[in-house]
Amino acid sequence: AIEARNVAETLREAGLTLSSKLDFQQISALILDLLRRVIPYDIGAFMTVEGTELKLAAIKRPADLRNLIGETFPAAGARLCNMALQKKRPLISPITSPDDILLPLRPDQEIRSFLGVPIVFRDLAIGLIALYDFAGRTFTDDDARVADLFASQVAIAMDNSRRVELMEKQAVTDQLTGLYNRRAFATMGEREVGRARRYKRPLALILFDIDHFKDVNDTYGHLFGDHVLRVLTKRVTDTTRGTDIVCRYGGEEFIVLMPEAGREEALAMAERLREEISRMTVVTEGGTLSLTISLGIASLDPAGEDNLESLISRADRAMYQAKAAGRNAVRG
Ligand code: GH3
Ligand code: MG
Ligand code: MG
Repeated sequence: AIEARNVAETLREAGLTLSSKLDFQQISALILDLLRRVIPYDIGAFMTVEGTELKLAAIKRPADLRNLIGETFPAAGARLCNMALQKKRPLISPITSPDDILLPLRPDQEIRSFLGVPIVFRDLAIGLIALYDFAGRTFTDDDARVADLFASQVAIAMDNSRRVELMEKQAVTDQLTGLYNRRAFATMGEREVGRARRYKRPLALILFDIDHFKDVNDTYGHLFGDHVLRVLTKRVTDTTRGTDIVCRYGGEEFIVLMPEAGREEALAMAERLREEISRMTVVTEGGTLSLTISLGIASLDPAGEDNLESLISRADRAMYQAKAAGRNAVRG
């Protein structure tokens, strides 16, 4: 039987590990280490549920299995791991065929016994700890109970960290488009301006506004207008570079901040955006809808006193010139 004091002590340590600031991969590896103190096993795997897949976060022993970390396996299926996950309860089983094993473990190892402990939070399986034993022994109900105690601690910690991650993401993104919101943009933009000035690097900014967007709302309704904003966002993020910072600056106003880009590159990008958007069509109840945008650009004056605000207001003025010139145009 497993000594209760040892279990209590190990659980306490697991609690400390789970509340530490380590990243999730380190935490999951430590949990497997701690678990081995109370349940001897030969191979231990820690997986998280990501949609329809199980993703390997940590694996213990043998060394040549380490490179499996990050790999994904189907969450549904007839393998023992799948069954434990589906049952949402610990599962002990002998292993009779290599087909029982979900992970690509070395076939020359004779794995005989399996203990799968799903990590369940609010009746949802969010992860799985899978333990395998070679010929030596078979897992017991006591092992399953202890592992389940671990799993419930892990569940709370995993849910917490997912919640924090989500909140951090929501704090910086615009709900409708998923782009950076104005506040996050201010923080990142100021950092980029500071960096560009310090290292004398180019930096440019494009500000654009949809032409006659009020008409879209008036004709098709506000909800359809929202849909158009999302379609346009996709086109913008597909067109811009991975290093560009795209922000929803206002209702139907957007900013693309382009690190390492000068005036010419910004002009070229603005022209591309103008073209891409003007060629885009959105399907409506009565035919297709096209849009145009008016864009203003501004680039950092290396000799001057530019800050983020002055860049934005220059681009804004340029954008209004584009509007005045008949819209669907680039100025600046
Ligand atoms: P202009 O070419 O001068 O820019 O004309 P416009 O109609 O686009 O300009 P205006 O600034 O007067 O109108 C912007 C419109 O954008 C008004 C507002 O209802 C709409 N809008 C702003 N935010 C949203 C949003 O989140 N969803 C929807 N559907 N519409 C929005
Ligand atoms: Mg507009
Ligand atoms: Mg506007």
